[in-house]
Amino acid sequence: MNLILLGPPGSGKGTQGAILSQRTGLLRVATGDLLRDAVKRGSELGLKAKGFMDRGELVPDEIILGLLEDVLSRPEAQGGVVMDGFPRTVAQAEKVDQLLEARGERVDRVLLFNVPEDELLRRIMGRAKEEDRSDDTPEAFRRRVAVYREQTAPLVDYYRGRGILTEIDAVGTVEEIAERIEEALGL
Ligand code: ADP
Repeated sequence: MNLILLGPPGSGKGTQGAILSQRTGLLRVATGDLLRDAVKRGSELGLKAKGFMDRGELVPDEIILGLLEDVLSRPEAQGGVVMDGFPRTVAQAEKVDQLLEARGERVDRVLLFNVPEDELLRRIMGRAKEEDRSDDTPEAFRRRVAVYREQTAPLVDYYRGRGILTEIDAVGTVEEIAERIEEALGL
């Protein structure tokens, strides 16, 4: 089963992705984590990505498409993954379709995390203190929300049109939201 977690920054995809991965045994793939790790290691990918991430911009597709190919071709990704933080553009969504199709799989379900914007801002400012993420400043966060609306939100229609989109009310306790997700997936 291949699942996509879709939603604005701070909507809880990472937390729920980790829980979902534990409960299903599916590998969680998070492009944000992979990129932050690359930045920390100072790899070529990290050097290219850092400026975009700090400004709250998307890392360009020409860099991300290759990363998706690498990560989805790994043996442990065969048979199903939980995708957290990607696809973020239509080009990335098409790439995911193509990579899965090549091995006889497909995107089975997309969970859209719904959270009002004032709640997002509250959460992200709390996280900035805890995690020391260089892109959790108010300016970068605002930019990330705007970028989500412009470049990622069109994916809602892309997947809704296929009948595989499920909206999740992502306000509540971590456990409540995890239960809503399990229910939505019939787990
Ligand atoms: P959040 O969901 O809170 O925005 P992520 O960890 O998913 O955080 O992403 C952090 C940053 O990493 C993004 O703002 C962007 O710069 C970069 N990034 C992560 N995934 C992608 C992707 N699929 N395409 C382009 N940029 C990405």
